[in-house]
Amino acid sequence: MLVHAKACLPNEACGYLVGSETGRIQRFVPITSAAGSPTRFVFEPHEQLAAEQAIDAAGEQVIGIAHSHPNGEPLPSAVDTADAGRFDPLGILLRVVIAPTTGEIRSHRIINGEVAAM
Ligand SMILES: [Zn+2]
Repeated sequence: MLVHAKACLPNEACGYLVGSETGRIQRFVPITSAAGSPTRFVFEPHEQLAAEQAIDAAGEQVIGIAHSHPNGEPLPSAVDTADAGRFDPLGILLRVVIAPTTGEIRSHRIINGEVAAM
């Protein structure tokens, strides 16, 4: 994740966290950010679909989303929290934020707008 986040600087990097039903992360699947922005990420839709199909074909599951904050803290932003509320209101997905400049990586769950460190 960190290597990918550094390679995407100065823009945000993103991808899926793939794992088992127990919630253990097994691997990171990088997906190009179509936003090309240092403050936002948007999964490139064709890569996203291909990744989901490959994960499904392998009998694996998406258990989280990781992205980077090139100039910020490894904490969910207001935009991240709002997006989580729209697409994952129950906080099923793990939210991992990477700070590529410091190498910090932190994980959270966002449930009803409340951010909980994991
Ligand atoms: Zn963010």
